Amino acid sequence: MKIQKRLQKKKQRTVIAIIVKDGMVVSYATNEHKEPCKRIGYPTGEGYELCEWCNYPNHAEYKASQGIRDAKCYLIGHYYACDSCKSELDKRNIELFIIGNE
Ligand SMILES: [Zn+2]
Ligand SMILES: [Zn+2]
Repeated sequence: MKIQKRLQKKKQRTVIAIIVKDGMVVSYATNEHKEPCKRIGYPTGEGYELCEWCNYPNHAEYKASQGIRDAKCYLIGHYYACDSCKSELDKRNIELFIIGNE
């Protein structure tokens, strides 16, 4: 039970994406769960479709980048960006920096 709780916490930690353009923060978004994550026990990058809150386009980096081009995205609290987000950022010429090191 304790382990289960810890895993839940891990998947549900808040991810923050900050978009910086010309040295200024122009946008940010978070990826928070409003109900328990259904991906507990799944490896990173898999099973996104099982959980509404894990599912792209609910990702912080996707939400933060909307309407913005030619900028930098700092992803905090996670060490991984999914392919959908990466290609979205690529399309917008937004460079991704991953700060989370967990
Ligand atoms: Zn989830
Ligand atoms: Zn993503």
